[in-house]
Amino acid sequence: IVQWTPFFQTYKKQRYPWVQLAGHQGNFKAGPEQGTILKKLCPKEELCFQVLMKDVLRPYVPEYKGHVTCEDGDSMYLQLQDLLGDFTSPCVMDCKIGVRTYLEEELAKAKEKPKLRKDMYEKMIQIDPNAPTEEEHRLKGVTKPRYMVWRETISSTATLGFRIEGIKKSDGKSSKDFKTTKTREQIMQAFQDFTNGFPHALPKYIQRLKAIKATLEVSDFFSSHEVIGSSLLFVHDKTNANVWLIDFAKTLVLPNGMSISHSSKWIVGNHEDGYLIGLNNLISIFTEMHET
Ligand code: ATP
Ligand code: MG
Ligand code: MG
Repeated sequence: IVQWTPFFQTYKKQRYPWVQLAGHQGNFKAGPEQGTILKKLCPKEELCFQVLMKDVLRPYVPEYKGHVTCEDGDSMYLQLQDLLGDFTSPCVMDCKIGVRTYLEEELAKAKEKPKLRKDMYEKMIQIDPNAPTEEEHRLKGVTKPRYMVWRETISSTATLGFRIEGIKKSDGKSSKDFKTTKTREQIMQAFQDFTNGFPHALPKYIQRLKAIKATLEVSDFFSSHEVIGSSLLFVHDKTNANVWLIDFAKTLVLPNGMSISHSSKWIVGNHEDGYLIGLNNLISIFTEMHET
């Protein structure tokens, strides 16, 4: 069960509890203006938003309204459009996109002095007792890079190019329990539960996802960045449904002159993020649900 961020938002005279499906609690606060929220500032993410406000992707990301320094004086926050503002009792889903959710440099760092980690071995066998090799079983330890790569295979990240991070339904019920939701069938089941009772949502989501895809294909931002750990935030209520790109804290400019397809297989060092693999699978799954 998700721990609610303890703040209320006001927009168009409505007051509602704000919903946070991922990230650390305390990274978010109500914004100084109606319809905005504050997210702890990360300079790399701020740079992305500055570029995005001038990119064709602008309509598909929360509006960035600059940064603010808070009363305590030492924490800076990004002021962002609250995407829940136009909805009444919304259902919200965060899907983290990509075939990996760590940066190449994080993997490289983990490989520097790869000690055997008993804690990671324990976590591994708790989820899948057959995951460690014979040798890892004998040593009762795995290295961190081995663990990082394996962890992406227990959810749909490595295979489908996205995973569900959290879902909150309009009745307030929520779950972050998708760490091992892996197969297309399991994902479809979760999406069915998410959209159940809101038949208008499916076609709206499909249309919006297709528009996002078409826009990514011509976006200068997308062609020049490696997009890691970013999410699509799905929001619907009784009348509306919409999707936005959020979370650019791990989105980096590609190394000099490098370009990626966002759809070919990732091999260490090629910087491919698999963003379009995830987006295509989302479109395909929602379309299959809509047609049956
Ligand atoms: P992590 O890196 O662990 O995913 P984070 O601290 O970078 O987390 P985000 O992923 O940006 O944070 O956001 C966390 C959650 O907050 C999202 O899943 C979503 O529920 C909510 N959220 C973020 N940005 C917005 C927004 N602009 N409007 C409404 N809700 C938002
Ligand atoms: Mg996130
Ligand atoms: Mg993040």
